[in-house]
Amino acid sequence: MSDSDKKLTINEIYHSVQGESTWAGLPCVFVRLTFCDLRCNYCDTEYAFYEGTKQSLGEIVDAVAAYNCPLVEITEASRYYKRMFFHL
Ligand code: SF4
Repeated sequence: MSDSDKKLTINEIYHSVQGESTWAGLPCVFVRLTFCDLRCNYCDTEYAFYEGTKQSLGEIVDAVAAYNCPLVEITEASRYYKRMFFHL
């Protein structure tokens, strides 16, 4: 299986304005992964704990590229998935 055929469960991919960090105020594409093993009492994205669709890395890259935006944030999901992304 090639890397582009590997799949992740994606809650949503959308374009908005970055609201945090030194990138605040810049256009950004957000890739929200499904699942999170934390339960922060201030969480406002509980819908992302379980809802999502399987997408290949190729599909994810195509969806992100369609926004033609150089700033991309991968958000949510467990620490396990975040570690996986460091290997991409
Ligand atoms: S999605 Fe974010 S805010 Fe919500 S529980 Fe997980 S880490 Fe906390």
